[in-house]
Amino acid sequence: MFPLARQLPAADVHLRALKIHGGGCPLCAGRGPVDVRTSYRTWSAVVLTHWSSRRQISCRGCGIRAQLRGIAWSALLGWWGLPLGPLVTPIQIVRNLVAMLVPDPQAPSAALAWQASLLLAQERLAQARGPGRAAHAERCRRPDGPDNPAAASSAPAVLE
Ligand SMILES: [Zn+2]
Repeated sequence: MFPLARQLPAADVHLRALKIHGGGCPLCAGRGPVDVRTSYRTWSAVVLTHWSSRRQISCRGCGIRAQLRGIAWSALLGWWGLPLGPLVTPIQIVRNLVAMLVPDPQAPSAALAWQASLLLAQERLAQARGPGRAAHAERCRRPDGPDNPAAASSAPAVLE
């Protein structure tokens, strides 16, 4: 799907990104602008420190809630591993703060444009495989779709 996503007409991708950007938030159904929001967290145990970033397509409010959760998670669980815990924890907290404070761009971000191209590629592949397959793909993409193995474990807007 990645090669196809890269070959899509830029105008189509831009149009889809604009539609997502101006649409409702897939998490809270609230008003946009909707974009890719990243939150950061870390946890440590003795000599092990793990850190990650999580991306979601959402409104700014849902993004800030995820970033606050990232701060709380890191502040509680990040410190307890040497040598990296005390180094990585403040970095992840500051990354969340920066993400919260940076104002929203007026246009869709490059990350949202990439997600839009993946969505378009997925749809075009489903169309190319025929109407029966397209309907099947549509069912699979729905979060409550019967054939979606990820339905039980993750929300559709979480892109991790
Ligand atoms: Zn929201």
